[in-house]
Amino acid sequence: MSDTLEQLWAATFRHAKEHSPFYRELFRGMNPVPRLEDVPTVDKRVLSERNLDFLCVPRERIVEIVTTSGTTGQPLVWMLTEADVRRLALNEKLSFACAGLTPRDTVLVAVAMDRCFIAGLAYWLGLRELGCAAVRVGPASPLLALEMIQRVQPTAIIAVPSFLRVIADKARATGFDLKNGPVKKAICIGEPIRDRSLALNASGRAIKAAWGARVHSTYGVTELANSLCECDAGAGGHLHDEQLHLEILDDDGRPVPDGEVGEVVATTFGVEAMPLIRYRTGDCAALFRTPCKCGRTTPRLWPIVGRKNQKLKFKGASLFPSTLAAVLEQTEGVESFVIIARRESELSDSIEVLVHGAASVGTLREAMQARAKIAPHIRHASREEIETLAMPAPARKRRTFVDLR
Ligand SMILES: [Zn+2]
Repeated sequence: MSDTLEQLWAATFRHAKEHSPFYRELFRGMNPVPRLEDVPTVDKRVLSERNLDFLCVPRERIVEIVTTSGTTGQPLVWMLTEADVRRLALNEKLSFACAGLTPRDTVLVAVAMDRCFIAGLAYWLGLRELGCAAVRVGPASPLLALEMIQRVQPTAIIAVPSFLRVIADKARATGFDLKNGPVKKAICIGEPIRDRSLALNASGRAIKAAWGARVHSTYGVTELANSLCECDAGAGGHLHDEQLHLEILDDDGRPVPDGEVGEVVATTFGVEAMPLIRYRTGDCAALFRTPCKCGRTTPRLWPIVGRKNQKLKFKGASLFPSTLAAVLEQTEGVESFVIIARRESELSDSIEVLVHGAASVGTLREAMQARAKIAPHIRHASREEIETLAMPAPARKRRTFVDLR
């Protein structure tokens, strides 16, 4: 840690210890300020059980209340002071500048501004801070997005990849030439557009082709009020290290070497209302500290390979479903697929892959062996059977992994 980061850490530690009931208890007797690596980690379970005990300021200083997305368990309530909202705006400004946006850009914000989400608010604040023109079309109507593309000639769009594909489908169906349109940058949130080697996955390639735009991935966590966005090099999301400190830890809580996948553990700097210290996000990814081609020297977070609790155990090896998904996506003759995990024993899961398309089971098995180093059970299935599993009735998001363990 540099001197500046040491100072940011010390201020964060003192603030949390003095004002949050949870941290006062956790850090009792820790004096002087310990090394960041020496304080205990905190996970989502604790955060959910003690949610408001993390609050460091009186309620009258709160100006925004949001909730987490709730992909794992009940959504948490997250509160921000005026200074926290300004910090959020600065973070997004830095992220968008990293993606190459300038005050000359007009940007469609095709994500939800309401429903207690932080993302839409953060993007809107960041665009304002940077001086771009924001067009809040929201995530509901592809026709409205196309209409605004025609009328105001935006140069960029922020959306989840699946909605970018929905807009592209609508453009195709209505004869709208999206590819030669004005939008030259698509900032993609919430779903991966790259695989672990940083190559665009099927979704990323489809968006790039349909929109004729450069795609940028951005990764954000509500409770960190922070996002990491790719620059034009597309080599991981840049960390703004005066706002956030990241560690990548293995299953035993030890740091892994640069470039190795582990759990993303984060400490927020400069947060007033609800600071987090060594927070285990449950997301797994690798961090690189080598300088980027763009000239920035801050660490870069590579694509999230999965949630820690999705990790599969297979005959002595451990791997993420995304590794198998990447092989399937790149194998010719695979139209759709779903990966199913079941608990076989304490030491091993059973993995079944259902595939729709012309690819033979033999070809798929060879590809799995060569690239994922495992041989799961593979069988053909109808499009309907796969769709039922991928999109069960109450689901909001399509999934390619079904965990029955
Ligand atoms: Zn860069």
